[in-house]
Amino acid sequence: MNRLVASIKNLNLTAFFITLILPLFLLIPVHYFVQPSMFLAERFFPGTWWIEITALTIYSVWLGQIMAKTGNIGNVRIKYWLFFSFIFFGQFILGLTVNDNFLMSGELHLPIPALIIASPIYRGEGFFMPILLLSTLAIIGPGWCSHLCYIGAWDNWAARKMKRPRKTFSRKQTLILRYLILAFVIIAAALMNYFGASVSVMFISALAFGIIGVFLMLFFSRKLGYMMHCTTYCPTGSLVTLLGKLYPLRVKIDQNSCTACNICSTECRYDALTPMDVKSGSAGWNCTLCGDCLSSCHESSISFSFFGLKKNGWVIYISIIVALHAVFLALARL
Ligand code: SF4
Ligand code: SF4
Ligand code: SF4
Repeated sequence: MNRLVASIKNLNLTAFFITLILPLFLLIPVHYFVQPSMFLAERFFPGTWWIEITALTIYSVWLGQIMAKTGNIGNVRIKYWLFFSFIFFGQFILGLTVNDNFLMSGELHLPIPALIIASPIYRGEGFFMPILLLSTLAIIGPGWCSHLCYIGAWDNWAARKMKRPRKTFSRKQTLILRYLILAFVIIAAALMNYFGASVSVMFISALAFGIIGVFLMLFFSRKLGYMMHCTTYCPTGSLVTLLGKLYPLRVKIDQNSCTACNICSTECRYDALTPMDVKSGSAGWNCTLCGDCLSSCHESSISFSFFGLKKNGWVIYISIIVALHAVFLALARL
C-alpha cells in the first residue's frame, strides 16, 4: 500500500497524461474507420479490439514514467526499440508462414527502409509509407531514426558492442557520402521506372542494397561503435535527418556548467556530439534526438530545447515518442 502511494506521488503528470491520451486518441478511430481491422486481437477474436488498446495504453503509461525519469536513457531505449523490431519482424515471419492475418496487406514487401523512398518512385504509386514517415516526422522530427524504425534498432545494438565510438571518416566526408547515396537511390529508382524495369530487377536490387546494409552493421558499426549504417548508408535516414532540421527541438549544452569532460560524446552513437559540438553548445547534423547523452551528463548541462524553452522539453518529447511506439506496436506491419 505504501509503495502504491509512493508511486502515485512520484508520478510524472505530464508524461502520464500524454502517454494515456495519445494512444487512445490515435487507436480508437482506427478501429472505427479502418476495415478490415488493424488490431490482431480483433482479427483473431472479434470483439476484443478494446482489450488490445487498453493493454497498449497501460504499457505506454508505464514506459512513459520510466523514460521520463530514467538515469540511463540509452539502455532502456535500445530495449523497447528492439522489442518493437522483434514484434514487427515476428509478425512478418508469422504472416508469411502461418497466417496472413499477421500482415497488413498480404502483399510481399522487403522490410528495407530505403524502399520507403525508392518503391513509390519506381512504382509511381504506394505512397502510404512515405506519408506515414512524413506524418511521423511532423510529430517527432528525426526521432523516427532513434525510436521507431524497425531496422535502426539493430544498427544501434551493433554499435553498442563497443564501449566508445571510433570515427573513420570526417563528418564532411560522411555528409557527402550519405547524400550521394540518397541521390543515387532516387535516380536509380526513377530510371527503373522510366525504362520499365521488371519487379524482379527491383526486388534483386533492393535485396542487394539491404544485404550491404546488414554487412555494414555487422562489420563496421559493431567494430567502430557508431551507427555506420544509419549515419552514412541509409537514404531514408539521410532524408529524415535533413527534414528533421525543420523540427523545433534541439539538444543544447549549457557552457556555464559544462566541464568539457566529453563523457556525453562517448554516449552518442550517431556521431552527433564530438568534443567540438560540445564546445559549440549544440549537437551536430546527425542528431536524431535519441536522448542518450542527456543521462550521461553528471552536471545536467544537456537539455532538449523547444523554441528556446528548456523546461520539460525531454519529458514532453519522450512521452509523445512512447505513445507513438505503443501505437506502432499495434499498427506497424508489412
Ligand atoms: S537511418 Fe534508416 S535504418 Fe536507420 S533508423 Fe533511420 S530509417 Fe531506419
Ligand atoms: S557530459 Fe556534460 S559536462 Fe561533460 S562534456 Fe558533456 S555536457 Fe559537458
Ligand atoms: S547528440 Fe545526444 S540526442 Fe543527439 S543523437 Fe547524440 S546522443 Fe542522441
